Amino acid sequence: MSEHTAAPVDRQTASTANASERKLQRLGLVEPSDFVVHLPIRYEDETKLDRIGSLRPGQVVQVEGEILHSEVQLRPRRQLVAAIGDGSGRLYLRWLHFYPNQRRQVETGRRVRVRGEVRVGFNGCEIVHPRVTVAGSALPDSLTPVYPTTDGLTQPVLRRAIRQALEQADLSESLPPQLVHSLGLPSFEEAIRILHGPPAGMSIEQLVERGHPAWRRIKFDELLAQQLSLALARRHRRKQRAHPLPAESALSPRLRAGLPFSLTDAQERVVSEISADLTRDYPMHRLLQGDVGSGKTVVAAFAAVQAIGAGRQVAIMAPTEILAEQHFRKLAAWLEPLDVKVAWLTGSLPLRQRRAAVEAIAAGTVDLVIGTQALIQDKVTFDRLGLVILDEQHRFGVAQRLELNRKGEDADETAGAPRVPHQLNMSATPIPRTLAMTFFADLDVSMIDELPPGRSPVITKLVSDARRDEVLSLVHREVVAGRQAYWVCPLVEESEALQLQTAVDTHAVLAAAFPDMSVGLVHGRMTPADKQEVMTGFRNGDVQLLVATTVIEVGVDVPNACLMIIEHAERFGLAQLHQLRGRVGRGSGQSVCVLMYQGPLSAVARERLKAMYETTDGFEIARRDLEQRGPGEFLGMRQSGQELLRYADLESDGGLVEQARQAAAELLESHPEHVRKHLQRWMRGRQDLLRS
Ligand code: ADP
Ligand code: MG
Repeated sequence: MSEHTAAPVDRQTASTANASERKLQRLGLVEPSDFVVHLPIRYEDETKLDRIGSLRPGQVVQVEGEILHSEVQLRPRRQLVAAIGDGSGRLYLRWLHFYPNQRRQVETGRRVRVRGEVRVGFNGCEIVHPRVTVAGSALPDSLTPVYPTTDGLTQPVLRRAIRQALEQADLSESLPPQLVHSLGLPSFEEAIRILHGPPAGMSIEQLVERGHPAWRRIKFDELLAQQLSLALARRHRRKQRAHPLPAESALSPRLRAGLPFSLTDAQERVVSEISADLTRDYPMHRLLQGDVGSGKTVVAAFAAVQAIGAGRQVAIMAPTEILAEQHFRKLAAWLEPLDVKVAWLTGSLPLRQRRAAVEAIAAGTVDLVIGTQALIQDKVTFDRLGLVILDEQHRFGVAQRLELNRKGEDADETAGAPRVPHQLNMSATPIPRTLAMTFFADLDVSMIDELPPGRSPVITKLVSDARRDEVLSLVHREVVAGRQAYWVCPLVEESEALQLQTAVDTHAVLAAAFPDMSVGLVHGRMTPADKQEVMTGFRNGDVQLLVATTVIEVGVDVPNACLMIIEHAERFGLAQLHQLRGRVGRGSGQSVCVLMYQGPLSAVARERLKAMYETTDGFEIARRDLEQRGPGEFLGMRQSGQELLRYADLESDGGLVEQARQAAAELLESHPEHVRKHLQRWMRGRQDLLRS
């Protein structure tokens, strides 16, 4: 708001000033407080001089001495070569490109200070393109910081700007001193001053690896700011109003009575956690985690009947048509006998049917609607939406989720604020604990940590592509024995068309190889009606072998399918392989997953396949995935949240996360003025990123 209030200045100065200002802005550097927390990535030690006689190749050194000799050589190419001596030895300097003034700088007899990396040259130790300054000037008494920067913004300019900001900015403590003391951390000012200009002699290694207490203070502050904003987001949510959905109707016991199985203990537990949330007058915001096949759908059904029994409508949104259709089928079978009206809405529905569905949803004659993104189109309005369920929530963006929520807002005078629907997010991608504690701290988490009984773990086999024939006979054996199989075609990253072609070709080859078998094909480019027909055939057992691209990755549930072949498994990510493998092992028979690979394998691919071979535990797989790829993948829900951490590392700073969490609770409880100051310093208006 205050950007445009600068007084008019001389034009020339203004435009150069603006140019570097714009570059600084690009780094997020506007206010003095921004510069203060723009911290170095490394340091250079210019505080001492080295003796030429004791230099070793590979070192970055600084020496002072007299130019003993200097010439422009023409062979083997034009270059400037000089030799410098300090009495202890001789060092060569070499420039492959140079300006006349550089040549003057190293005229024979001059005394200079040079800096650069030593290597072994033709005549002995040398430095290529050294930095040359005059000899004899005072040595700095602190290490020289090197900052992250952007094109055209040099270190000296950035250093000067930061030095200035350090004089203007408020460096006073944002936390209660007793807290800082009890954690054994330095004060904010002390930490900042050390990091911007560590005294000579301090270990550069400890600084760069961020193990120094000054770094711990910064990382703690950052994690604390994140915990505080998440806690505030949670408070904000508690101030919102929702329709309480009491669990009084007879629907839930009737649903239970009609199920062909009884719930596992883990399912019972999460069902009651969700049930309790729904009875509150502020919106539920819960994440339901459970490995593939752990039975999340039936839990969603219990949440739905509680809302419907309390007179509200429910919407379930799934990321793909196949998945939405499968949910519809399953939920309709469970709920229609209870007189619950279930509708289905996807983009591929014929226009007339779609219109009818939209009308019924708006009129309130439908209790439960299941669909894809089609649910969030403008045309769709609800009569009394009370609960929103998102399956595979990480597949949706923040905006899409908000959009569906908004459809349930109703301005209720008596509540004083609009009522918003309760929200249940489901995900099979387990989120490691540290991530859950940081990025998802404003969500309540329910976990299904047990699979339904009678499942035997899937056996995973790694098979080289060269043994394809054996794989084919395995498929044949299984099908002859009355079971079904998936054949997943390789990912072709460069081109979707190529991927499609591969699937079509594979289908043709397998159909020819197995004339006695019905081989189906499903891929992303088929019309939804065709897709549905193939899937129905597979579900009925008419199709015995299903060739597929990764469209089957999420949610397909056919218990009689016991064999999964994945071609070029080395091209898939770990989470994806785990999802795919989760398609089998759903019935009582022994299931097998064959990961076919083509060598030579990269180290990462080998690690991935090894992980798949060694474990079927979704959490262990997620942990290894996090190790291999970093947190990005898990943050579907909080894409923006990642930017909030610049210095702390969730893997290696796990202990600090816990401390920050405790401190956040304490500050919110009894030190609101510190909360304000701390967030101002670290977040400056970015807290809103977390309010979704
Ligand atoms: P996911 O958690 O991957 O979404 P689903 O909800 O699709 O899993 O459930 C997988 C399969 O397990 C389905 O066929 C479902 O009907 C079945 N199932 C769910 N809960 C139980 C249970 N308690 N006992 C037996 N089978 C169950
Ligand atoms: Mg599911």
